[in-house]
Amino acid sequence: MLKDRVALVTGASRGIGRQTALTLAENGARVIVNYNGNREKAEEVVALIQEKGGQAAACGFDVSDYEATGEKLAELIREYGRLDILVNNAGVTRDGLILKMSEADYDAVVDTNLKGTFNCIRHAARQMVKQRYGRIVNLSSVVGVYGNGGQVNYSASKAGIIGITKSVAKELGSRGITVNAVAPGFIVTEMTDAMPEDAKQQVAERIAMKRLGSTSDVADVIAFLASDKAAYVTGQVICVDGGMSI
Ligand code: NDP
Repeated sequence: MLKDRVALVTGASRGIGRQTALTLAENGARVIVNYNGNREKAEEVVALIQEKGGQAAACGFDVSDYEATGEKLAELIREYGRLDILVNNAGVTRDGLILKMSEADYDAVVDTNLKGTFNCIRHAARQMVKQRYGRIVNLSSVVGVYGNGGQVNYSASKAGIIGITKSVAKELGSRGITVNAVAPGFIVTEMTDAMPEDAKQQVAERIAMKRLGSTSDVADVIAFLASDKAAYVTGQVICVDGGMSI
């Protein structure tokens, strides 16, 4: 489905990004596994892909750093000659109520999640326009659509990602580039691990499918949006939440 496509997945050392890298590679893409601090884990993902006969390389940079992201993307584009798929997955949380949230916690989350998404698109778009082909998939969240107490910073960043998605889709559609967002519900990863078991069960009860999501549930939808099968889907927000938001 993605044979010889060159894909960059940000934050692919763990969680949803890791599974997305594995799934894109299984479908034939050459995958660049981005990480921030966890080089070892990113290299494990690369090794796993290579063991299965796929192609991958690890590449560390902080997506919130405009200059560093620009330099790394330029290097990657020189090395691979193209960039077909960009999955803006890198994300962080620093939860707290509005009455107590520090400026630093607000900035850290918005800088990584929202500005990081802008930084990567800004530095990838020219190459995609030149190729007249591109697939951009941004990780939003149901919290970005509906809001969530205790997550003002996170929901602002995820709502902002929806704005970026729709605007860039309008700007670049005529160049063969699609831009979509995936909005996961509650997916079992390190990000959600901190929650006590009984609280997780209570969440599951409120989900139509009566279970929390897996990283594969999200990665499979991302792989579809990154493929030619989704050529006429752009500017959309696809909730992958087991019916949590209905
Ligand atoms: P994890 O916490 O499991 O993994 C986060 C990943 O992002 C890691 O690979 C981490 O790299 C990377 N990362 C963090 N900051 C940066 C940075 N500045 N530059 C580059 N990479 C960075 O997260 P999840 O897999 O749970 O979440 C992935 C995405 O999905 C996020 O955008 C999240 O907001 C979104 N999402 C998740 C949901 C869930 O229930 N899990 C629900 C809705 C949305 P490193 O290991 O090097 O630190």
